[in-house]
Amino acid sequence: MGSIGRVRQLVESVIEFHIGELKLEEFAVFNTRGDPLSVIVATILSQNTNDKNAVRAYKTLAEVVGTPLKPEALLALGVEGIARAIRVSGMHQVKARAIVNLANSVTIQELEELEPMSLRSKLLSVPGIGYKTADVFLLMYRRYPIFPVDTHIRRILVRYGVVRPGDSYERIRLTVEGELPRDPEYLMRAHLSLIRHGRTVCKALRPRCGDCPVASTCLKVAV
Ligand code: SF4
Repeated sequence: MGSIGRVRQLVESVIEFHIGELKLEEFAVFNTRGDPLSVIVATILSQNTNDKNAVRAYKTLAEVVGTPLKPEALLALGVEGIARAIRVSGMHQVKARAIVNLANSVTIQELEELEPMSLRSKLLSVPGIGYKTADVFLLMYRRYPIFPVDTHIRRILVRYGVVRPGDSYERIRLTVEGELPRDPEYLMRAHLSLIRHGRTVCKALRPRCGDCPVASTCLKVAV
């Protein structure tokens, strides 16, 4: 692998290993109507649940308020109405509050046009919206070259030995971005392939290291 860094080695191998089997319909954000608010709401709904439940919750909510999602329609339904519609996604009260906070704070025009890092700051100031949600939106919808870190990705990077268990979200994101091309299409492939790797090979409980394409360079296997 010559002089390329360890993060890049890992990501290249994982992309190559999984790219043929990536199914976009397995990811909640690709099951929305594709309007900006839908993409963020689907990401909120996918927190701490599987994408199947997130998609069911999104579809029920979309049926109630209509699509494309609009802040006014979500505000009219209110926290209780939204919570009822998204119940299947779990933590429905918390998520419903985050959705209402979002609808109160950000306009569709801002989601579409605000300078990406200013929009990121704005989204992060909304109670209930975290780094991952903001970054998934920037990458998937705005096609801005940023790398969202989810729990699967964090686990793989820690096991592989390129970040430490206590590292902050921002530290991990910048470590990864420092070694990858600033190309949104590449970063999207990397993000989705690593999630797939975490779901199918580098699983939380019993990682299948014997089937892993990076086992020969993984720190977890070496110790
Ligand atoms: S070798 Fe094992 S621990 Fe390391 S990345 Fe692969 S599955 Fe995960």
